[in-house]
Amino acid sequence: SPIVVAVDGPAGSGKSSVSIAAAERLGYAFLDTGAAYRALAWLGLERGVDLDDADAVVALLDDFDYRTVPGADGTIVHIGLHDVTTAIREPRVSAVVSDVARIPAVRSALNETFRRLIDATQVPGIVVEGRDITTVVAPDAAVRILLTASEEVRIARRSKDLAPAQAATAGQLRERDRRDAQVVDFMTAAPGVTTLDSTDLDFDQTVDAVVALVHE
Ligand code: C5P
Repeated sequence: SPIVVAVDGPAGSGKSSVSIAAAERLGYAFLDTGAAYRALAWLGLERGVDLDDADAVVALLDDFDYRTVPGADGTIVHIGLHDVTTAIREPRVSAVVSDVARIPAVRSALNETFRRLIDATQVPGIVVEGRDITTVVAPDAAVRILLTASEEVRIARRSKDLAPAQAATAGQLRERDRRDAQVVDFMTAAPGVTTLDSTDLDFDQTVDAVVALVHE
């Protein structure tokens, strides 16, 4: 089985871009678990499903044909034949993704998918990022990292990364973290998890720190 590098952290911590760059440096694959929650939320919106209705959301999983392809700037996400790579980052999806993510049956189904994708890794290792990778999805990972940054820095980075139309306001980011934290505690490092605070690090320094932890 592959060497797993598990990276958890709050919204805007830079998890995705740092994990992609670290995976590239290491010659590892990369798995963005948040993209699957976003894709399911997108499908729910598309079908007009009441996302507070857990049974209706779980029913969506029956024909949730989630596929990913590695792309130049991250993962290309398809649902069936539909390319939803950009759509799943829209604020309307960010606003409701926590509703989908708090349903236990959704979490267990997606966790099975994630474990299957990890097991299918063709290269020596895989960087997996999300909220509960170090604790639930891959608690036995060789390297377990909690990537944090001050809230101020996270909001600033988020607005710089995204197109203006996608930039989350401070309030939106805070609200999503507040709701997500009721489901999984991604703000405290579990035993054996290394906290990497990137508040005073630039992007390359943060990637270097992740790669160094893998080489330790
Ligand atoms: O990482 P990202 O911000 O794209 O994740 C989108 C949403 O997916 C989170 O706000 C959270 O609700 C959910 N999520 C989760 N568990 C994960 C990854 C993401 O609940 N492992």
